[in-house]
Amino acid sequence: MSKGKGRDGVLDILAPGPHRDYLRYYIDRHKYERTIHGNTLNVALLLDKFVPWRNGKFDYFAFLKGGKCFQIPEEIAGRMEDIPVPDGFRMVEWRGRVEGGLVIGMGAPHVHETALSFHRSWGIPYIPGTALKGLLRTLYLDMAQDRLGIYRPSCMEAFLSGEDHPRDAGHRKEDCPVFSKSKDTLKDEVEEFRRIFGTKEKQGEIVFMDAYPVDGNFCLEMDVMSVHYPDYYRGEGLPADWSSPNIIYFVKVVNTGFRGLLISRTMDEGELERVRDNLKRALETYGIGAKTAVGYGVVR
Ligand SMILES: [Zn+2]
Repeated sequence: MSKGKGRDGVLDILAPGPHRDYLRYYIDRHKYERTIHGNTLNVALLLDKFVPWRNGKFDYFAFLKGGKCFQIPEEIAGRMEDIPVPDGFRMVEWRGRVEGGLVIGMGAPHVHETALSFHRSWGIPYIPGTALKGLLRTLYLDMAQDRLGIYRPSCMEAFLSGEDHPRDAGHRKEDCPVFSKSKDTLKDEVEEFRRIFGTKEKQGEIVFMDAYPVDGNFCLEMDVMSVHYPDYYRGEGLPADWSSPNIIYFVKVVNTGFRGLLISRTMDEGELERVRDNLKRALETYGIGAKTAVGYGVVR
């Protein structure tokens, strides 16, 4: 039977095993073949659970060849647009668009060598709030270092968050340029950093919500990276030109708009907007997710 036609066509491209029987049941119940043809029900099921299988191996190309866009069911998209502000909280939103490629959760366990994170129940890609918070933290760290003109990230991070001087810094606290010079110069930075990110004693004042695709759809595309010295990275040889490059495929999010929210009980709108603008700046300049050093993950 030709690929993708009817129930058995869908089953043709799936790995053998108990999943296939389970899927047969699922297809009968939910017209699962719609996922193969674009009008998606839950694309994460296909990528994470029922991975396409062809010629004896897992094969994403079966349905992602040339890139593909998926609709988000209206009831989910609508729910994300109308998040109510809880009583006593302020909320600001940010929006940004991924053009070239976003790869989040690449290192997660998967039958394929690489993975992409999908929302567990909705099956749509998302940017976790924790990742956004971590990214913003890097920006604030760099801003403080720029202000001081001293670049010692681990010392600066300890100083800003009110922790002890790092033991492995290679110098004593008394000799630390960050700890000795920052006290008055970085007063405002310290206060803002601790309010946003919290300390060991006190939690941060902002809730970073996960960011979801807007506009009712998202697009996925295959990409490829070549590991030129596979033996070397396995610790089994030199990074030499006689190694055969190892080609690894991965899935990236492209041409997709995202929207996220920052929520706070104690910060006023102006303060939240300032943080939001910095977050936008970090998303534009550093990028988020995997492979940002080579231009992935830029959201603008
Ligand atoms: Zn130091």
